[in-house]
Amino acid sequence: MKEIGHWINGKHVKGTSGRFADVFNPATGEVQAKVALATKAELDAATADAAAAQVKWGATNPQRRARVMMEFVRLLNRDMDKLAEALSSEHGKTIPDAKGDIQRGLEVMEFCIGAPHLLKGEFTDSAGPGIDMYSMRQPIGVAAGITPFNFPAMIPMWKMGPALACGNAFILKPSERDPSVPLMLAELMQEAGLPDGVLQVINGDKEAVDAILDSPIIAGIGFVGSTPIAEYIYGRGCSNGKRVQCFGGAKNHMIIMPDADMDQAADALVGAGYGAAGERCMAISVAVPVGDATADALIEKLIPRIEKLKVGPYTAGNDVDYGPVVTAAAKANILKLVESGVAQGAKLVVDGRNFKLQGYEDGFFVGPHLFDHVTRDMDIYRKEIFGPVLSTVRAKTYEEALAYAMDHEYGNGTAIFTRDGDTARDFAARVNVGMIGINVPIPVPLAYHTFGGWKKSAFGDLNQHGPDAFRFYTRTKTITSRWPSGIKEGASLNFKPMD
Ligand code: NAD
Repeated sequence: MKEIGHWINGKHVKGTSGRFADVFNPATGEVQAKVALATKAELDAATADAAAAQVKWGATNPQRRARVMMEFVRLLNRDMDKLAEALSSEHGKTIPDAKGDIQRGLEVMEFCIGAPHLLKGEFTDSAGPGIDMYSMRQPIGVAAGITPFNFPAMIPMWKMGPALACGNAFILKPSERDPSVPLMLAELMQEAGLPDGVLQVINGDKEAVDAILDSPIIAGIGFVGSTPIAEYIYGRGCSNGKRVQCFGGAKNHMIIMPDADMDQAADALVGAGYGAAGERCMAISVAVPVGDATADALIEKLIPRIEKLKVGPYTAGNDVDYGPVVTAAAKANILKLVESGVAQGAKLVVDGRNFKLQGYEDGFFVGPHLFDHVTRDMDIYRKEIFGPVLSTVRAKTYEEALAYAMDHEYGNGTAIFTRDGDTARDFAARVNVGMIGINVPIPVPLAYHTFGGWKKSAFGDLNQHGPDAFRFYTRTKTITSRWPSGIKEGASLNFKPMD
């Protein structure tokens, strides 16, 4: 059995805890490796080494740090196929989708090459007689990232890229479900010239996470995962005096106005609802057609498209639209929620419950499901399903559709499909959600903008990537300087404005 350990001080290191988690091949259900789960002592020792390594890295000029990121981008492109294969084999997503996962991380690394510019401070010449005032953005020291299974390349890069470019050391605690790609990223960082110890990859579960939360050395934590864990990490990390940003779960609504192009809307819903088996925090999981005629037309167009979807292992190449979900437990949870939808009165118009794939009977495949006539009180509407299940709630008016998106506890992304600019503009201005698509179903902002939800989808201030990430991973220091020509005689005891 393959054993996956940690990456500490530039080397692969075996775990010492004797505790392991299974890493599955989701297509066959077989255990393909065991990943070590770190102890608090392992985490603390790696963190102390990272703090020592950070001193020199933080003092390296930002242009040299940026060159490491530049070389890393080249190596990512060189190893794209290898990384995608490793990613798909543990996660289950198709190869083109795995490449998208890597690409969206790579783009943030490209943004990080601009670190010298992004780290520039402010300067005020002659703020008073002989007085100049300026600010610096300095690294926070050692930062940590705790990341989810569903984007094992992109999200670790969203975290470590800006943190490292700012001059911090970084402790990455990736998901124990698909740990291989984060370790490969660490190897590539070393090859790109990152000094050993500056990036540590520690695999683990709650014990390692709690050690991060309680570490006296770690100054900032970026988390992405489910909302209950986000809330926990935010609370405990903040109470320990750290800066913490946590991104949680989602229930993204797509509103379809009567004037929308129904073919485009149906295609968008199929891609955004079922791509990656629905295991995306920006997946559309609720369709909100406005008016019964719109709903009927939409459902009619959706059914044949959904029934045509090809579900299978990534190894089947272009013959597959989406792969298995990540674990047997995830599959069981999705099917339990589907049953609850039926029991609570929703109409299951595409029923994927009996989906079986010959030769892969033990794989974690879930057939596509489409519900109609879903209502607010149902579990399938309230909860994040994180599977290939699309719910349709019928709204009578635009205001009612808007209220669905506004009233839901999650607020990650949302979209509106319409040809009417006024309605689109009104929607973007009023909806209390962080990322909005206008005729775009998955509005993931590009690397030089920022990514983050509202309400129960995010805790803390500042978003991921873009300029916000450079603020999150640095502290401001402001210097007021005066040279003797500006100094007058005599002490002043008053707190006074500048002359
Ligand atoms: P998860 O919350 O189970 O795990 C995320 C991380 O937290 C992992 O590293 C895991 O080891 C750790 N963890 C799990 N349980 C813990 C506990 N009890 N104590 C301490 N640490 C714990 O999430 P997941 O299943 O890996 O990922 C799916 C979730 O992530 C979905 O809810 C999805 O919406 C969300 N997500 C959100 C975003 C976003 O940007 N908002 C992006 C991707 C995924």
